[in-house]
Amino acid sequence: YRDFDDDNDSGRVRVAVRLRPRNAEDLLSDVDFADCVELQPELKRLKLRKNNWSSESYRFDEVFTETASQKRVYEVVAKPVVESVLSGYNGTVMAYGQTGTGKTFTLGRLGKNDASERGIMVRALEDIMDNISIAFDTVEVSYLQLYMESIQDLLAPEKTNIPINEDPKTGECHCLIGEANRHAANTKLNTESSRSHAILMVNIRRSVPGKVEDDISYQDNITKGNFPIVRKSKLLIVDLAGSERLDKSGSEGLLLEEAKFINLSLTSLGKCINALAENCPHIPTRDSKLTRLLRDSFGGSARTSLIITVGPSSRHHAETTSTIILIPCFV
Ligand code: ADP
Ligand code: MG
Repeated sequence: YRDFDDDNDSGRVRVAVRLRPRNAEDLLSDVDFADCVELQPELKRLKLRKNNWSSESYRFDEVFTETASQKRVYEVVAKPVVESVLSGYNGTVMAYGQTGTGKTFTLGRLGKNDASERGIMVRALEDIMDNISIAFDTVEVSYLQLYMESIQDLLAPEKTNIPINEDPKTGECHCLIGEANRHAANTKLNTESSRSHAILMVNIRRSVPGKVEDDISYQDNITKGNFPIVRKSKLLIVDLAGSERLDKSGSEGLLLEEAKFINLSLTSLGKCINALAENCPHIPTRDSKLTRLLRDSFGGSARTSLIITVGPSSRHHAETTSTIILIPCFV
């Protein structure tokens, strides 16, 4: 296990866990129980208590307690990824967890009233805009929704899978429009955002100036690599569908279809992450649209951070367990 800021740590998926503070519902339902989740941040461990006699302990690359600030989560988990994307490598930040545990809070919070509450998407876009050259670089922002294996562009909901080219300064705006459309699209589809994956995709093209020598031929300049070099890289920030498993026997129709597609994509994501962790030469990305979209972000020089969000309540013990064991290598 290495630190999140370890420069040599590319190719592997680093996994953090973040605990949501208790809410009124947790307090009401847990009167008879001790906390289900106990964090040991210094050991980077999470202990999940089933009852007074049995508990399981899991190790992570980083553990965020319920008091961790948005800024700290960004700096530890996402900033190293954003920095490597600015240097020309692909990077991904994903949040995975049961609905209501803080995935959208962690990634998509806009902080309209309180800037300290801004989530990872807005902070990442800001960092990118602060570090690129408007004259030489291009930044393309898309915000996609992946619902039942079909991709919708949240910045232009009537279109499908069309990248957006606009002034990078409006990146934050894109997020806002996208979030609004995610809800609109969901109403139209008669579903909930927890049944879809939302993906912020930032494509960056940076020109690294090269020198051109006048006294040699054009071909020799090319051979010597004397022209501006264009580096392409891609940042993906993925708010995954809720990890809860719907009871297949009890569901039918659309709900059952949704559940099948979510299971398909999350299961294939788990397979890819495990293949990466075991240094498999082949990463099975072809099984779902989600993993196909993530293909360039797996392995090689790419950096990936996964934030697992959990709630403290003992009533979610089973779901919390099944969320965590998506990544068996961390058990
Ligand atoms: P999800 O996207 O996983 O379904 P949300 O991000 O919508 O969950 O969070 C559910 C609720 O819990 C929201 O009201 C959110 O503001 C709150 N919440 C989640 N995480 C935190 C946190 N770390 N601190 C404070 N409130 C949080
Ligand atoms: Mg959400």
